[in-house]
Amino acid sequence: MKFRGHDLSALESLDVDGRLTWAAERFPGRTGIGTSFQHSGMILIDARVRLKLDGIRVYTIDTERLLPETYDFIQTVEKRYGIRIECLKPDPAEIRKMVADHGLYLFFDSREKQEYCCYLRKVKPNEQALDGLDVWITGLRRGQSESRGATPLYEILDRPNGQVLKLNPLYDWPEERIQAEVKKRNIPVHPLYAQGYPSFGCVICTTPIRPGENPRAGRWRWFNAVDDKKECGLHVPESARTKEI
Ligand code: SF4
Repeated sequence: MKFRGHDLSALESLDVDGRLTWAAERFPGRTGIGTSFQHSGMILIDARVRLKLDGIRVYTIDTERLLPETYDFIQTVEKRYGIRIECLKPDPAEIRKMVADHGLYLFFDSREKQEYCCYLRKVKPNEQALDGLDVWITGLRRGQSESRGATPLYEILDRPNGQVLKLNPLYDWPEERIQAEVKKRNIPVHPLYAQGYPSFGCVICTTPIRPGENPRAGRWRWFNAVDDKKECGLHVPESARTKEI
């Protein structure tokens, strides 16, 4: 498979450092790591800084409802690595209208409303980020959940404004390897891991998990009895997103 004339099969034989370098050299300034500061995203940021790949941008989605510890951690990461993390926010007018029509806590009402809130607060800002990128680098891994069990190393996304290469350099890393890399490189650890959070989303919608629970169980807990296919929409096909209610 080729992307903008580049043979993607070359990525398969490279390690993570090589994959990041491949993208930075071919698409400088138009390659971005999107992260919510889980270990996998931090490993990518650490490699980007260690390899001096200044052509790779680093961004996060600030839904304006992130856990307070995450806002503090953004500053910790910026200070430790001497980088600027781009914080992309939702459109204020759209959020005002959504809250006026459905209330601030609309996500309790139904899955449809939760997905709509996520669409405005997370997916749309990410789509705007992708408008400025050729390569979107994520920390997605097969071991993160059942629904991510088939995560590929790369895929080409067909978007309204052109194609984007979605690259998941850590796609086949097991949890033990992630933990070992964090330790080996003394990578900053989000403080909420110590409180049982497996990932870091919005207040109320993200909670810690108990030992043995599915990592996604901590998201939108009030839907646990309904089904376990809980996603914010960032990593689902365009056609499966709830864009209006
Ligand atoms: S996680 Fe909750 S508050 Fe955050 S965007 Fe989704 S539904 Fe809205």
